[in-house]
Amino acid sequence: MNTLPDALDTPGGLAPYAVTDAVSAGRRHPEPAPNYRGEYQRDRDRIIHAAAFRRLEYKTQVFVNHEGDLFRTRLTHSIEVAQIARSIARALHLNEDLTEAIALAHDLGHTPFGHAGQDALNECMQAWGGFEHNLQSLRVVDELEEKYADFLGLNLTFETREGILKHCSPGNARELGDVGERFLNKRQPSLEAQLTNLADEIAYNSHDVDDGLRAGLIEVAQLNEVSLFAEQYTEVRRRYPGLPQRRVIHEVVRRLINCQVVDLIETSNARLAEAAPATLDAVRDQSRPLIAFSDAMRERNLELKRFLRTRLYRHYRVHRMSAKARRVIRDLFLAFNDDPRLLPQEAQGHVRTLREQDGDAGQARAVADYIAGMTDRYAISEHHRVYNPGELT
Ligand code: MG
Repeated sequence: MNTLPDALDTPGGLAPYAVTDAVSAGRRHPEPAPNYRGEYQRDRDRIIHAAAFRRLEYKTQVFVNHEGDLFRTRLTHSIEVAQIARSIARALHLNEDLTEAIALAHDLGHTPFGHAGQDALNECMQAWGGFEHNLQSLRVVDELEEKYADFLGLNLTFETREGILKHCSPGNARELGDVGERFLNKRQPSLEAQLTNLADEIAYNSHDVDDGLRAGLIEVAQLNEVSLFAEQYTEVRRRYPGLPQRRVIHEVVRRLINCQVVDLIETSNARLAEAAPATLDAVRDQSRPLIAFSDAMRERNLELKRFLRTRLYRHYRVHRMSAKARRVIRDLFLAFNDDPRLLPQEAQGHVRTLREQDGDAGQARAVADYIAGMTDRYAISEHHRVYNPGELT
């Protein structure tokens, strides 16, 4: 059932409420339009060439990078989010390039060691405004990447930056200028931002099931207590009796993704048809997001999330890794903030710059920037170099 208007008169067959180059709020530093690409293709391309993007390959999603080559990393996670987001965007006649740019950038601000790393850095930064990976992703694309002669950061469009900033406290929103405003005025982000946010959830819920099973931390028998999983598992077993378990699991994970994507497209289609926003501005004025799961799917999603939280994220082996990770991050922060001369030259320069602007808070922020940018293995080797008397430098 397609309830979308047949006549899509915006460029590229997009819906009238899709984001297009023509309605973009532009870049912080004005630049001439690209010759052979759209504005959001250019954003996507800039993100792919960023140093922070390459480092995602060696950052933990749930499992520390060196635990095995088969697990998701932040990089493969981001690519999976982009794939899911593009499928949804195309089905809804929204801007695929924009969703891809947001998806590939959404985790750029993550510290090493996943959420354990971010929690530790946040604790270290309490006196200086805390640390939040979402804000840090924006900071990476706005300030920390040094690749262009004319400006700091990647100078991305407003719409990509808005999509990166999924959530934000009112205090932070007041300091962020244009991208912070919607949190204060209670307006909605673009549909492309809304759907990429949910594509992120679909991706990690599904691939954490896959990785958790592969790691032997959770079992099929336990997962069968979760209705979303059990339904697909029973169906696959019924249809393909005798299929080896590994293939059964792949088939189930594939179906898990698909049923969530289909639910999201159909529910959003119905909401779009009902609200009938004429423009992007009308999307922003809505009192609720128009991209959504059905109530039933949201409930089942929560059930799966609860399962993953108690059985996987709190599993003692994951917890051991998280505890070690927190220690590494805390130790590095204390050492570097106490004596910034321990930092490599380039990072010392960043500390000096931010210290001149903002005193102790600036120094701490620069140290947090340095630590947040590390890969898992770099953080571990820096920890050795800084704390182990047997290490040379
Ligand atoms: Mg993510």
